[in-house]
Amino acid sequence: MQLYNTMTRKTEELQPMDGKTVKMYCCGPTVYSDAHIGNLRSYIFEDILHKTIELAGFDLKHVMNITDVGHLTNDELDTGEDKMVKAAKAAKTTVLDIAKMYEEKFFNDCKKLRIERPFKTPRATEYVGKMIAFAKALEEKGYAYLSGGNLYFDTSKFKRYGLLSGQKIEDRNHGERVEVDENKKNQSDFVLWFTQSKFEDHALKWNSPWGEGYPGWHLECSVMSMDTLGEEIDIHCGGVDNLFPHHENEIAQSEAYTGKKWVNFWLHGEHLNLKEGKMSKSKGHKFTVSSLEEKGYLPEHYRYLCLTAHYRTQLIFSYENLDSAKNTYNNLVKKIKELKKEASKDSNSELLDIYILKFNNYLFDDLNSPRALATMWEALKDAELSAKDKLSVISNAEKVFSLGLTEIEVDEALEIPEDVQVMLDQRQEARANKDWVKSDEIRDHIASMGFAVKDTKDGQELSKI
Ligand code: AMP
Ligand code: ZN
Repeated sequence: MQLYNTMTRKTEELQPMDGKTVKMYCCGPTVYSDAHIGNLRSYIFEDILHKTIELAGFDLKHVMNITDVGHLTNDELDTGEDKMVKAAKAAKTTVLDIAKMYEEKFFNDCKKLRIERPFKTPRATEYVGKMIAFAKALEEKGYAYLSGGNLYFDTSKFKRYGLLSGQKIEDRNHGERVEVDENKKNQSDFVLWFTQSKFEDHALKWNSPWGEGYPGWHLECSVMSMDTLGEEIDIHCGGVDNLFPHHENEIAQSEAYTGKKWVNFWLHGEHLNLKEGKMSKSKGHKFTVSSLEEKGYLPEHYRYLCLTAHYRTQLIFSYENLDSAKNTYNNLVKKIKELKKEASKDSNSELLDIYILKFNNYLFDDLNSPRALATMWEALKDAELSAKDKLSVISNAEKVFSLGLTEIEVDEALEIPEDVQVMLDQRQEARANKDWVKSDEIRDHIASMGFAVKDTKDGQELSKI
């Protein structure tokens, strides 16, 4: 299995450190509002990765954190208002209630999108004691300094700082309006522990050796990852916006702490964007799973749309794109129903193996879901492949695609009452004579008897109302 590693900028073979179990950590949601479908694209990508690793025969330990403390409006500058406090104030409730509610909603959305729950999903608030111990150890090793009441990580002490992203905060300042934090020795330095916020008061505070306060956002991922998966892991994921400074800072503090390499593979999922630009919670965009459902889409339609783009390419969201995914998905469902009806028993195992191998190899090639999807369709259209074998291709695809394809049931044969059948025949005759008025009259009459008629290219289709 080959994966593109952001750290080396190369596609490399995945080989778990212990030869068997892949240890994977993914940055999780900040639970202060509904996840938008852009956020969820990142979790769908991680789910595809999760299931492809298992398809390749590895064991997997997948951990994802829940950020229920802190995560400032603008982390890049370590400034801004605490997002959770802001949301709690707006809803006139407590920060922890906000977190609990949105965490539940998040997992509910994931379930709808058939995203498998990681092995562990630790909450930041449950790890504050361990974060304090971690920051204390960094201070004792000389990597941290206290300034203006906050404990900062000194990036100049960590020589490999900037290797992942190829940038430092200083590099970005040209032409950009960046607020300078006078407390920092270097502008790349970041807060491990806050006792002083330049902004509004924070609801959640803990005692620490540096005074009462709360952890900086970056700290939680290093601490929870090491606690749940050990000091070295195989894969770390997140959306591209996490790459800098968040992941760069995670590396600095983790490797300063252990003195060894922390992560083998860094994987980053590209964004879901709107034609007019970025989709983001802070801009108040309301594209959620529920809002799509309200418009008549299934969560599977959105998951299908995500599969049509490689995870390292941007995907533009529009209702036209979603409609096209919906139509293709619905055709797929229809096709599967037809295959199930055929009930053929013959098999050409050689051809079937070729398709499954081809499908799997596309996924093993840095999760090429669009090509895997195309291979699945190619198999479905292959006249040489029996219905039974086609359904085997679908079952194999479903292991990773998770579109509910193996749950599809054949519609029960409709019993057509004799008088309805007579009318259907009359209507067919009227249509053959282009007598549309009569055709519509008969359709209304059939409707009054509890049946709907739809005209398809294969003729009249009857269903119960
Ligand atoms: P947050 O809850 O803001 O911490 O973000 C959760 C995840 O969503 C992170 O992995 C982000 O990188 C990712 N993310 C944020 N915006 C987008 C987007 N428009 N498309 C895809 N992923 C995103
Ligand atoms: Zn993280």
